[in-house]
Amino acid sequence: MPDLMDHLQELQAEALARNTNAARLKPCVAASLFCVDCDRPIPKERRAANPSAQRCIYCQSLLEANAKHFRGQA
Ligand SMILES: [Zn+2]
Repeated sequence: MPDLMDHLQELQAEALARNTNAARLKPCVAASLFCVDCDRPIPKERRAANPSAQRCIYCQSLLEANAKHFRGQA
């Protein structure tokens, strides 16, 4: 007879599979020439280092800092 832990493990496995599939289905995009936030050119070194870069290093750093802050890890 399945107990609560078995049910929770099934839910966790389903969530993991769902999140893995969602990550796999994300479209691969080429690096932008211009930042999507500030419209400044993205240096070719950054585009070479991160082929899917959509933001300049300043805007990406700001985005990640804000995300970290809102997750409570700042
Ligand atoms: Zn930018």
